[in-house]
Amino acid sequence: MQVLRTVSETRAAVRALRAGGRSIGFVPTMGALHEGHLSLVRAAKAGSGAVVVSIFVNPTQFGPNEDFAQYPRTFEADCAALEREGVDLVFAPAAEEMYAPDASTFVDVEGVSGRLDGASRPGHFRGVATVVAKLLNIVGPDRAFFGQKDAAQVAVLKRMVRDLNLPVELVVCPIVREPDGLAMSSRNRYLSAEERRQALVLHRALNEVQRMAESGVTAARDLIATAEAVLAGEPAVRVDYCKIVDPDTLEDVADVQNGVLVAVAAFAGTTRLIDNLVLPSAHHDLS
Ligand code: AMP
Repeated sequence: MQVLRTVSETRAAVRALRAGGRSIGFVPTMGALHEGHLSLVRAAKAGSGAVVVSIFVNPTQFGPNEDFAQYPRTFEADCAALEREGVDLVFAPAAEEMYAPDASTFVDVEGVSGRLDGASRPGHFRGVATVVAKLLNIVGPDRAFFGQKDAAQVAVLKRMVRDLNLPVELVVCPIVREPDGLAMSSRNRYLSAEERRQALVLHRALNEVQRMAESGVTAARDLIATAEAVLAGEPAVRVDYCKIVDPDTLEDVADVQNGVLVAVAAFAGTTRLIDNLVLPSAHHDLS
């Protein structure tokens, strides 16, 4: 497995991988890898010839009072895990390699970027869209793999790829959870034992929405009220948003008959957690 730090080396290495006739699958990450990330790597391996993973904690997607400095960095362990998965190439640039000091070009996906997490984290999706556009330009993959965990990010990036005619197929992979239901996240390691227990309320709220929807309730207002009631049962958890939206535009919908995204963001202590559910769900385990 090659671990490269520069754009030019990475371009050359991808060219060499392609020369053997292999297609390229790409998984962008910020490191601190867990099974959620590795599920994307496995999907990329299953569907593409060679697999490229980037590890880059992108400064432009963090707000001034967010956790950029504290964000977990576990580079050695990440590389060991990726090597075990049979990854071909890791691109791990320094911030200076990605951004000239006077960089002044950004990708702004208007509208969707201001909804859900974008409403709470101004500028976040501008940073995400810009770095993903850059990474796609550097790696030039056939397919790029993203997690449904970050559903608003998926909406922003799908639109960017469409609007800019980027020659890549986006593949969205399901949310990977801990055995008790908590969606895996690099930020889960910030949680105290008490917060870790409280954090389960997000999954409980979504489960209750799914149960109600499957019993025939279609009014978004009623489903949101139910989710909010479940969330209120854990008063230490501060809800940022709890919404039912169109998965492409992220705009509120009134009923859930036509494929919607139920999305929740909340703070356990100072840690911001997100989770979501797509309705109607493809499968369910309720009897
Ligand atoms: P991050 O390192 O947090 O930027 O995440 C990198 C990629 O992994 C993104 O496409 C995320 O949506 C995806 N991801 C993060 N957590 C999970 C999870 N629990 N299940 C599936 N994908 C995930």
